[in-house]
This record gives sequence, structure tokens and C-alpha cells, in this order.
Amino acid sequence: MQDCVFCRIVAGQIPAKKVFEDGAVLAFEDVNPTAPVHVLVVPKRHIETLNDASPSDTALLGQLLLAATAVAREKNLTEAGYRAVINTMAGAGQVVMHVHLHVIGGRDLAWPPG
Ligand code: AMP
Ligand code: ZN
Repeated sequence: MQDCVFCRIVAGQIPAKKVFEDGAVLAFEDVNPTAPVHVLVVPKRHIETLNDASPSDTALLGQLLLAATAVAREKNLTEAGYRAVINTMAGAGQVVMHVHLHVIGGRDLAWPPG
């Protein structure tokens, strides 16, 4: 997906501050952070939205969540707490159409979110 900003980050064509990486997922700092910690975890393979995930993506979805815990450990958030969010479709605020999990923390987080 040449026109996808996150595919281009995965390909190294756009710079990003990497936080975690394995064979299947990449985590990097959000360019417009909404909290002291705001990291995005993306599958390296292009999947447009969570709606497009299939049973064959079961392991990959688990890897996304485990990468979020690795980010939380790296950022010392495991005790203070953090939020792991996947916005799905425009109505929920999804702007970049490549599945990504936001790891947000480092400040008090209100619930429910807006
Ligand atoms: P969403 O609204 O859930 O689609 O979130 C997209 C997120 O991607 C936003 O928080 C943006 O700040 C972030 N973002 C967009 N472009 C970049 C980029 N080149 N590097 C890092 N984060 C980005
Ligand atoms: Zn993509």
C-alpha cells in the first residue's frame, strides 16, 4: 500500500521513533501525542480496519496486544496504568486506514472517553 502512511513507516520510507519491533508488528511514537506517552502499535501487514481482520489474523491481533504490554513496560506504565485503544472507522475517530493500537498513558485518563 504505497499511499498508506503506516505502510511507509514500516517500509522505512517515512521516519518514526521506534519503541518496539518484532517480525509482525512495529510500535512508534505518535507524531501528535495526546498524553505524555502516546505510542502506536501497527501490524506490519496492511489491514485497513479491525473490521477487515479475519480468523487467520488471530495470532497477529494477539501480537498487537502483547506489543502494547511491551510498550507499557518500556514506558514504566504497568503500575500507573495505560489505555490501549483501536479506533475503528471514521465515526470512532479512525483517520489512518491501517489498523493501529494507541497506547496512551502518563496522565490521568478520563472514562468514558469523548
Ligand atoms: P486514528 O485517529 O486512530 O486514525 O489515529 C491516527 C494517529 O496517527 C494520530 O494520533 C496521528 O497523530 C498519528 N499519525 C499520523 N501520521 C503519523 C506519522 N507519520 N507518524 C506518527 N504518527 C502519525
Ligand atoms: Zn498500510
